[in-house]
Amino acid sequence: MEGQARPVVDARTGRAGPPTAEELGHGMRFRLTPEQRLLKKTTREFLESEVRHLVKEDKHGHGVFPEAAVKKMQEQGIFGMPIPRKYGGAGMGEVGYCLVAEEVGAVDSSLATILGAHTGIGMAPIWLFGNEDHRERIVRPLAEGTALGAFALTEPTAGSDAARIKTRADRDGDEWVLNGRKIWCSNGDRADYILVMAVSDPTLGAHGGVTAFVVEKDFPGFQVGSIEDKMGIRSSSTAELVFQDCRVPKENVIGKVGEGFIVALTALDGGRASLAAGALGACKELLGRMIDFSRKRRRAGRPIADNQAVQWKLAELAIKIFQNQHIVYDTAQLVDRYYHLIAEGHPVPRALRDEVSRKCAMVKVSASEAAGWAIEQALELFGAAGVRDAWDLERGFRDEIIIEIFEGTNEIQRLIISRDLIKGGNFW
Ligand SMILES: Cc1cc2nc3c(=O)[nH]c(=O)nc-3n(C[C@H](O)[C@H](O)[C@H](O)COP(=O)(O)OP(=O)(O)OC[C@H]3O[C@@H](n4cnc5c(N)ncnc54)[C@H](O)[C@@H]3O)c2cc1C
Repeated sequence: MEGQARPVVDARTGRAGPPTAEELGHGMRFRLTPEQRLLKKTTREFLESEVRHLVKEDKHGHGVFPEAAVKKMQEQGIFGMPIPRKYGGAGMGEVGYCLVAEEVGAVDSSLATILGAHTGIGMAPIWLFGNEDHRERIVRPLAEGTALGAFALTEPTAGSDAARIKTRADRDGDEWVLNGRKIWCSNGDRADYILVMAVSDPTLGAHGGVTAFVVEKDFPGFQVGSIEDKMGIRSSSTAELVFQDCRVPKENVIGKVGEGFIVALTALDGGRASLAAGALGACKELLGRMIDFSRKRRRAGRPIADNQAVQWKLAELAIKIFQNQHIVYDTAQLVDRYYHLIAEGHPVPRALRDEVSRKCAMVKVSASEAAGWAIEQALELFGAAGVRDAWDLERGFRDEIIIEIFEGTNEIQRLIISRDLIKGGNFW
């Protein structure tokens, strides 16, 4: 009939008519699949009903590891998101993992740190570079949530300059013998399996001379040292690890001998994307609270939301969220493709590796600084109420600053970005 458009059936939604905002993934350049949308929604509902009330902080002592919350999240399958189902994971890839990290970051940064240390830098590289035995023996319990993982690279004399690690690994028959000390290891005192980088050949430098090992918590010669007393994310425990003639079977080498630095850098790339997702979640949580407070708080007979200075804060944060939402999920998709190439043993072009590193660095800087900015704005908006314990904002203030430091400081991320640009990386 003239003038009347035929209803078009959308192949994805299976029905006629334009897709809803929900189906469009809230306007993201790529669309979340129905499964991803469902994952985000069910995770949020689960965290609100089962986990948020368990989150609290002990300001005295070293903070309290949130065992009950972690156990519930493990049982829910949250600790196995990116791992394929055939190895006990949820098979939701990096995008699924980031969606979950975003929701966890909205609830508590300590929980997001525990999840990130386990999933992004502890477990994922073992799946990516490990063989079938590693995937069955180590990745499966980690992904199924019956074991906890960690990642140990940083040492007293090697932080930003991680290539200078000194922990030694010497071959002795069918075993490697580890000697040295790691610091700042998130989950280090709780983990069943720790991915440890050590120097296997000091003559070769980081690329060629470092190997990745999985140390299991009951290996002789392995000991947990002191626990850090931190200003923020206090419920995530951060441990010193001591290796004194720690014997590791050769079967626990991940990837090839001498390729440990690539294992570590690859883990940190994906880790930075999920860390950015957690920071994005924190921004969204703060925006919700700021809108709510500015509507309810009345001064001179009017809600403070009537003031332009307040409106601008809300608008500015909404802009930052909009930007970060796009780049975080765009990057998560890229990491997904990259990780699958590695996991399936395909050659990875150098240009792709560089692009992933640069983009993961960019989203880490962007989202962590947005979260740092957001918490300052929230504190300012709430006035005296903001510094009260009850609102958790003062805790957020102590937590968010740390995201700018770990998994490589934001200064180092800026170096990664600019070095790639100067080298001629294909930016656009
Ligand atoms: C809460 C928390 C949890 C952590 N969890 C883990 C973990 O699970 N596993 C792990 O291995 N590590 C972990 N870390 C360590 C973290 O990755 C390092 O702290 C981080 O990489 C920085 O190293 P550093 O602290 O030694 O700082 P340094 O390297 O000493 O840097 C000090 C300052 O100098 C700046 N700087 C250094 N070099 C340069 C340069 N070339 N150009 C410009 N500026 C520079 C840095 O940006 C920083 O501002 C954790 C850290 C924290 C705080």
